[in-house]
Amino acid sequence: MRLVQFVDAREIRLGALVGDSIIDLRRAAFAAGHNPEPFRSVNTLLQAGPKKLKLASTLTAANGTPPIPLARTELVAPLAPGKIIAIGLNYRDHALETGMKIPEQPICFAKFTSSAAGPYHDIVLPAVDAQVDFEGELGVVIGQEARCISESEALRHVGGYVCFNDVSARKWQFDDGQWTRGKSCDTFAPFGPCLVTADEIPDPGELNIATRVNGETLQNSNTDQLIFGVARLIAWLSQSFTLQVGDLIATGTPAGVGVFRDPQRFLQAGDVVEVEIEKIGVIRNRVVAASVEGKADCA
Ligand code: ZN
Repeated sequence: MRLVQFVDAREIRLGALVGDSIIDLRRAAFAAGHNPEPFRSVNTLLQAGPKKLKLASTLTAANGTPPIPLARTELVAPLAPGKIIAIGLNYRDHALETGMKIPEQPICFAKFTSSAAGPYHDIVLPAVDAQVDFEGELGVVIGQEARCISESEALRHVGGYVCFNDVSARKWQFDDGQWTRGKSCDTFAPFGPCLVTADEIPDPGELNIATRVNGETLQNSNTDQLIFGVARLIAWLSQSFTLQVGDLIATGTPAGVGVFRDPQRFLQAGDVVEVEIEKIGVIRNRVVAASVEGKADCA
């Protein structure tokens, strides 16, 4: 199933994407005589567990409510992430281009959840030049709580997958000595366009992934290049803290990011960045200048 969150009459609603149409799942549940409450959002549906996910799938197939054309709605981020956990240097080709050694264990950092943005929303540049860069990544959403689990059980804890752009202000990332500020600006975590449920992607380690800027392909790889695969990451992270339903893991980016290109290629206002992953889809975000009118301290 391809779960989306969309705006209808100024309210965010949960839907299932079927071709170019959306089934409003709360409305469909109500129409079929089910308790509509679990169908308020992707978060509430994941929280409600596998039986309700299955019911969502049945409701989608039943065609009990008129489908809404995708073109007539606005998609927002398909989740309100509990945590955004990101992994650095996790593709062999990217570790090589940075000149750093292949890590022996995952490198984990955090992005504030306030950086989350929709699949087609604008990426807003900071008011000062902070060398903003793109990082196309596979995003993994936790669907069942995980604490100290083994690698062999890990994929059972996945709710689904998204395309993710780990937008990064390189100047702040490197000048600060740690990465939180440079990775957490507002709008620096666009993802979507939908959450593809885990049953549709039995092996997340064989997906083509590409990032384009203004149509030019700048990253082109496959998740088979991940140094630490999805199961390994989940098991490893779960040794440190509980992975909760709705947590989002950005699994790392392949080679080709702007900062390590020659010449360097940072994002400018007017650019359009796309991250496309096989079996998931594509997110497309326009880059815009900061609006700092009346905010003198921001310039
Ligand atoms: Zn990244």
